[in-house]
Amino acid sequence: MSAGRKARNELGKDDLIVIGGAGGFIAGALTRYFRDQGFRRIKAIDRKPLPEWYQHVPGVESVSMDLGERENCVRACAGAAEVYNLAADMGGMGFIERFRVECLRSVLINTHMVDSAWRAGARRYFFSSSACAYNTVLQQDPSARALKESDAYPAMAERGYGWEKLFSEMVCQEYHAERNLKTQIARFHNVFGPNGTWDGGREKAPAAICRKAIEAKDRKDDTIVIWGDGRQTRSFMYIDDCVEGIDLIMHCDELTAVPINLGTSEMVSINDLVTYVEEIAGVRLKRKYDLDAPRGVAGRNSDNTMIKKVLGWEPRTTLRKGLKPTYKWIEAQYRARKEGKRTVE
Ligand code: NAD
Repeated sequence: MSAGRKARNELGKDDLIVIGGAGGFIAGALTRYFRDQGFRRIKAIDRKPLPEWYQHVPGVESVSMDLGERENCVRACAGAAEVYNLAADMGGMGFIERFRVECLRSVLINTHMVDSAWRAGARRYFFSSSACAYNTVLQQDPSARALKESDAYPAMAERGYGWEKLFSEMVCQEYHAERNLKTQIARFHNVFGPNGTWDGGREKAPAAICRKAIEAKDRKDDTIVIWGDGRQTRSFMYIDDCVEGIDLIMHCDELTAVPINLGTSEMVSINDLVTYVEEIAGVRLKRKYDLDAPRGVAGRNSDNTMIKKVLGWEPRTTLRKGLKPTYKWIEAQYRARKEGKRTVE
């Protein structure tokens, strides 16, 4: 049994779990995960109106509320045993390169949420940071070495989004150092899977490539536009691994106030990603490279030395394997939309 699972026993099935951003991709999956584990009191919160949430988990109190407002955070955290803050105004490179102000303003969410969790006497607080907090100078080559936790400093994070994450990590760390709240911080690398953004401008590479392949098949036109030269590298973590990792990190005392990578160490290029999607879709696509499109850093991967040492665990699902259910889900969404049915993007 891992360190994380042992610590979970401190939480009773009727203790209140509060999850911010639950109308979104990862927090929606996390809500379902805890519900499936038998936790009976879960409060799921998101700014989006309820019909726009990706998942509606039965038996969970779902509230539409803006967590950028202090009074709402106080209300959200009242009586909470554990608070998970995954609410953020974010998206893929197309979003975070264009809307830096929106990304930076997520600082309000974490600042009010961690303070409200502390005031409410919560036992633990989780913050979803990002690999975008890492020094960009170390990511200028597609074959750049994998990033380890100490690579965030000296700091030169991704403008806007990355700096917000880095600052919010520090806020969490100081709430532990000075106020004794157990704050747990994971730096997610790219996460993908069903029930996430697949269209509309906030989608990330795996969902975007799946959608583009589906569209190309539908149009009977075998051209696909790829942002950048296709040689950029990333690692992609499947959603099931992500929620398990959140649970393990949240409940590990050794990791309190210690930011840790949560990602796979399988480094793939965007061209590899397209090849895997082609295999699933059963098509060969003509690749057109848009060199003016947002492309982010040249190379990024997760060094998992620390997570393996502390938790004896790391995300294991390969990109190839995880893409199958992801592609299937996006295809179903695409078809439903074409038939005029309501879908969430
Ligand atoms: P998502 O956009 O699907 O979910 C985020 C949710 O937060 C959205 O539903 C949004 O409506 C909500 N939100 C935004 N502002 C809010 C506010 N003021 N009050 C209440 N809710 C608000 O994104 P996701 O992929 O599920 O990401 C979850 C967290 O993980 C975010 O903090 C994100 O920065 C982080 N992260 C995600 C990835 C990834 O690859 N998906 C990678 C690194 C970090």
